[in-house]
Amino acid sequence: SMLLYMPEQGTQELKKIAHAVNHLSSLLAEQERWRQILMEDLGHELRTPLSIVGSQLEALVDGVFDLEPERLRTMLDDISRLTRLVQDMEKILQADGAIFELLQERMDLVPLLKQVLYLLQPIFEDKDIQVTLTTPKKPCPVLIDVDKMIQVFVNLLSNAAKFSEPKGKVNVCIELGVVGETISIHIQDNGIGIPQNEIDKIFERFYRVDRSRSRDTGGSGLGLTIAKRLVEAHKGTISVRSQEGSGSTFSVTLPLART
Ligand code: ADP
Repeated sequence: SMLLYMPEQGTQELKKIAHAVNHLSSLLAEQERWRQILMEDLGHELRTPLSIVGSQLEALVDGVFDLEPERLRTMLDDISRLTRLVQDMEKILQADGAIFELLQERMDLVPLLKQVLYLLQPIFEDKDIQVTLTTPKKPCPVLIDVDKMIQVFVNLLSNAAKFSEPKGKVNVCIELGVVGETISIHIQDNGIGIPQNEIDKIFERFYRVDRSRSRDTGGSGLGLTIAKRLVEAHKGTISVRSQEGSGSTFSVTLPLART
């Protein structure tokens, strides 16, 4: 180690710099760790569908079975899943970078959510799902990276549609915190819900409740992980309450922008 000469009047300044450097290096270390785990998980996720497709193709080449359309369709399904994984992977890497570069601007949450709901209208209409939006009378200013928050809400809202039966109901409610420092967005569905013992796990990477059932909903289990990281990058929180069979409510809480 080195012994540095520190002039007395500069000590405070140096301490501040040292603190900032330490903080930055622990952020980098955390990101590095996260990347490593991500790569391990990804390898694990890719291996299974790849080896299934591989062995099916081998069997075809060896003439073990005939080229039935059904078999080809299964392989195509596996390949689509691989493609989605890679796309989600790109998204999660972007979200990762977001922690260091949020392009924040001040805006009101109400028009933003109206815009997102408009964007998603087709997926709700597809299942004949009724959507309501409840907003406070007061302004709802937040400091956000618009594209990234849109990604969060698109994610939560499309999940609400995905895991609901046709003719379901989705209620979006914007609520100002009692103390006046936060604002929450609750997205409530009356869909299939999440079993109590799985609730803690759904924000984990690649986690999906009952994989065989979720398979046809076309996700890869990264959506909520990305949403959580993006919300936390905004110094917010995301949580869920759910009852299996009667529905789920996802809540995002963000700091209110000062007026
Ligand atoms: P994906 O939707 O791609 O499967 P997510 O990370 O968005 O991945 O969600 C992870 C899992 O959490 C889903 O597979 C599903 O089992 C569960 N889930 C998420 N949102 C809901 C919801 N609104 N209702 C019921 N289950 C949900």
